[in-house]
Amino acid sequence: MKVLKFGGTSVGSAQRMKDVAKLIVGEKNIVVLSAMSGTTNSLVEISDYLYKKNPDGANEIINQLSQKYFAHIEELYNTEEYKQKARELVSAHFDHIRSFTKDLFTLFEEKVVLAQGELMSTGMMNLYLNEQGVNSVLLPALDFMRTDKNAEPDPVYIKEKLTKLLENHPNADLYITQGYICRNAYGEIDNLQRGGSDYSASLIGAAIKADEIQIWTDIDGMHNNDPRYVKGTSPVRHLHFEEAAELAYFGAKILHPTCILPAKINNIPVRLLNTMQPEAPGTLISNVTEKGKIKAVAAKDNITAIKIKSGRMLLATGFLRKVFEIFENYQTPIDMITTSEVGVSVTIDNRKHLEEIVNDLKKYGTVSVDEDMVIVCVVGDLEWDNVGFEAKIVHAMKEVPVRMISYGGSNYNVSLLVKASDKQRALQALSDHLFNNK
Ligand code: ASP
Ligand code: MG
Repeated sequence: MKVLKFGGTSVGSAQRMKDVAKLIVGEKNIVVLSAMSGTTNSLVEISDYLYKKNPDGANEIINQLSQKYFAHIEELYNTEEYKQKARELVSAHFDHIRSFTKDLFTLFEEKVVLAQGELMSTGMMNLYLNEQGVNSVLLPALDFMRTDKNAEPDPVYIKEKLTKLLENHPNADLYITQGYICRNAYGEIDNLQRGGSDYSASLIGAAIKADEIQIWTDIDGMHNNDPRYVKGTSPVRHLHFEEAAELAYFGAKILHPTCILPAKINNIPVRLLNTMQPEAPGTLISNVTEKGKIKAVAAKDNITAIKIKSGRMLLATGFLRKVFEIFENYQTPIDMITTSEVGVSVTIDNRKHLEEIVNDLKKYGTVSVDEDMVIVCVVGDLEWDNVGFEAKIVHAMKEVPVRMISYGGSNYNVSLLVKASDKQRALQALSDHLFNNK
């Protein structure tokens, strides 16, 4: 059995839903759907109005959104019978959303509102398939997807509940379920964070030991560089899980970073595919390394670099611990680190506590801050005994000022820190030197 996940744009209109239906029928798989594109953003906006105690603002967005859904229904279904079923389904969800405009609005209610998008897209798809004569069965994610007290997914619970649900419907042609939504340790409706549908797919794949997890989007696999900034990018055919994790974390938008781990641990290949071009091979992510190949480049924006220079670091022990402790105290993760004997530079992407952090660091040395930086991450087989690769990367940057270089932390990555204003030429230079043989 496979798990197939379709993102918001892939189910973003009646026509797109019909296209997805064609792709999923014929095999007994589990299909995970996001909300129709734009829906979760609208639900966030509605919640925002409700937090601000502005029910009129909320109602306006609710009305706009519901009109769109009723229009999709007219286009999606052929028969009056199914149009009516879909109208009832969608009306019930919008009535539920409207009910929150009358009462106290807290985090708890917000989570319920945010869950409606996936509940509607899956319900609509299920009805469409039923209308087409397909015996599809809805598996309610709220009945099996759960997080524990640390807000981490609970794989034992998920596996147990999902297995039972599947056993209850042995004659299904295929299964449909919601991405993103779950219950927390207290049984309340919750979610796996924005973009979390990939994570749902990966957790489900791990729970059923799927043969493959397919992530369907609207681009042709993961590209070797960011097509928004660089000319002449091409899809990467194979990635190791570690390479995919680095790329996803460092800005490649196609796959949510959390999705990698459950698949990797259970050794389930992940295939990235394109709904608009279903025959294209896409990108296969697995435990296989391709020897001696640099695969791709990605960039992460809004990075701040902090340098702590101190004579006291010389020959001292415990200096780095004290420095890191300060970041920990302010719950601020560090991305990149470089050290010399008398100084250390780190980068962060969360500037919320920057001022306090800098203040505290001043106890230990001279502190300077560089803002508006970008981490450029080069990913591939970069094991240290392969010769020539670091040289190639550094050579590509010969005309770009580089603030930090980090290599050797893993076998798969070299990270470079450059100014945001140099991002585009840094990315282009790396593509030219590493992939296009210029
Ligand atoms: N619908 C949710 C979002 O937009 C989850 C997802 O699409 O992955 O964030
Ligand atoms: Mg080397």
